[in-house]
Amino acid sequence: MCGAPGSGKGTQSDRIVEKYHLAHLSTGDLLRQEIATGSELGKLLDSFISKGNLVPDDVIIDILAKHIDSLDADCAGVIFDGFPRNVAQAEALEKMLAERNEATSVLLDLQVEHDELITRLLNRGKVQHRSDDNIDTIKQRLVVYEEKTRPVNDFYKNINKYQAVDGMGTMEEIFERIDSILKQF
Ligand code: ADP
Repeated sequence: MCGAPGSGKGTQSDRIVEKYHLAHLSTGDLLRQEIATGSELGKLLDSFISKGNLVPDDVIIDILAKHIDSLDADCAGVIFDGFPRNVAQAEALEKMLAERNEATSVLLDLQVEHDELITRLLNRGKVQHRSDDNIDTIKQRLVVYEEKTRPVNDFYKNINKYQAVDGMGTMEEIFERIDSILKQF
């Protein structure tokens, strides 16, 4: 599940998990869990996240590999939410899965207008008090998205695994659009 910050990746992933009983791996959630422990690693991670920058690839890939290997072998599939965040991570993911005789099925690109993203993130900041949902950090996250994450779409277009999803509208409308794609798998 890909898309800009505030595009609804987490919300829609939760609904997909409910319907299809997939495992949900959100790198943002995994990072926030580590920060909540107060560990030295958590402090390092927070120094990237609270400024709106990506955490280094080796840290993310390491965290992700551990979680993939701890999944139930019978699990029907996995939603990667907020990952891959740049082309290097996409290449690492494809390699990690190939080594395990697995593969990705599709990249869903949730597309939401710029002003709507800012409105959603500022509202979330009021409710959830995330260290990165303030206007300065939001602007940096959107810059990072354009520079680093958007090219991931082309990576998946090139291997014919890209599907755009209109992310404007109600949560139900957006879920219907996603569901019509997932039914094909
Ligand atoms: P959002 O997409 O709304 O910004 P996330 O919870 O997915 O929310 O990510 C929050 C922050 O966590 C990102 O801005 C980034 O600093 C960090 N992060 C999450 N996933 C990754 C990743 N795959 N690689 C590097 N940093 C990440």
